[in-house]
Amino acid sequence: MRQSQLFTRVSRQVPKDEVSKNAQLLIRAGFIHKEMAGVYSFLPLGLRVLNKVIGVIREEMDAIGGQELSLTALQEKALWEKTDRWDDRKVDVWFKTVLKNGTELGLGSTHEEPVTRLMTQYVNSYRDLPLLAYQFQTKFRNEMRAKSGIMRVREFIMKDLYSFARTEEEHAELYASVRAAYLRIFERVGLGKSTYATFASGGIFSKYSEEFQTVSEAGEDLIYVDEASGRALNKEVFTDEVLADLGMKREALVEKKSIEVGNIFTLGTRFSDPLGLKFRDEHGEERPVLMGCYGIGPGRVMGTIVETLSDEKGIVWPESVAPFRVHLLSLGQDKEADRIYQDLTSSGIETLYDDRTVSAGEKFAESDLIGIPYQVIIGKKTLESGEAEVKRRSDGSVDKISLVDLSEHFRVVVG
Ligand code: ATP
Ligand code: MG
Repeated sequence: MRQSQLFTRVSRQVPKDEVSKNAQLLIRAGFIHKEMAGVYSFLPLGLRVLNKVIGVIREEMDAIGGQELSLTALQEKALWEKTDRWDDRKVDVWFKTVLKNGTELGLGSTHEEPVTRLMTQYVNSYRDLPLLAYQFQTKFRNEMRAKSGIMRVREFIMKDLYSFARTEEEHAELYASVRAAYLRIFERVGLGKSTYATFASGGIFSKYSEEFQTVSEAGEDLIYVDEASGRALNKEVFTDEVLADLGMKREALVEKKSIEVGNIFTLGTRFSDPLGLKFRDEHGEERPVLMGCYGIGPGRVMGTIVETLSDEKGIVWPESVAPFRVHLLSLGQDKEADRIYQDLTSSGIETLYDDRTVSAGEKFAESDLIGIPYQVIIGKKTLESGEAEVKRRSDGSVDKISLVDLSEHFRVVVG
């Protein structure tokens, strides 16, 4: 894409009403737009990143046999009354509305109820199980606090997956497969080293749930990490009994602030019982389906990447989620740069081409702020030597690559 045609612009001004680093950087660099407190729109650069994050999650969900669907945001009161989750005293984040005829509707903050009811139409026999169903869908939550930029918002896309199993063992297998997929997802989006599967309170059907917590000063949670074993637990469950139960030693634990990027939960029959989701086993006996739920917020993941990987110059996107792979900067050498742009794009290399007539200093500073992994600099000197400077955003290292080999370099050499 030609940057001259991008309608967003980089701003030097730090937005005054934003306290979080992710919102400040993402707004300045033109990735997001604040509509109101806790409500952000995604602009072209931001949407590209969000979609990359979604793409990684989708690949991993499909790889474990997840079937993608899309449930509605609008929710029926009667359904949620069956599980006792319509009452605002039970679920305090509801957005609700009343139609002219008096019908009350809610905007879904999660989807256990509709997905469980849906499955009663399709699951009858043991032959219909196990199954995994997931979606990327807009949730609405009337969150109290909204100071964490895109990490805690009132309208956001969630990836929510639900598992349906016949036995405890089968549930444990599904749970383990989703857990492993989550670890791969956080690794692929650049958060692998800083993210811990963390024991948290479990509810009625299992002792613990697991949260995927990324260590960050911007986090709202506190966790205790045993760095030697890589195990962690949330402060909210931290008692001597729990430590003994998990075989963790108090002396080995280090307290850290962290961001909950994902969360996996055993539901047992919490929803299948009240909503009548049952199956007939091999002996013709009716049994409740055992469920689990597994969430990740792609927007929160994106905000966490900005919080944890950016530097004093701006954002540093990992290649897997960067809006573009290459930022081509023409320093007044548009004819040659045009040719290189054609070459890169026709080789399938996603390139943002800064073809604007602004100073070199401005181009460098803005490119560092936007955070595309590779800057390809085409200046007068470059052309004389027949080589482009290729600067890696993450560590500032520079390689000189022959102009004729550039697209090959990005296709093969850099991977
Ligand atoms: P938190 O404790 O941070 O409020 P939660 O326990 O309510 O999170 P879940 O209901 O399990 O979160 O949601 C699954 C995932 O959705 C979370 O792990 C997080 O990545 C994301 N998420 C939850 N609430 C928000 C929000 N308000 N804004 C953005 N993403 C969110
Ligand atoms: Mg919450």
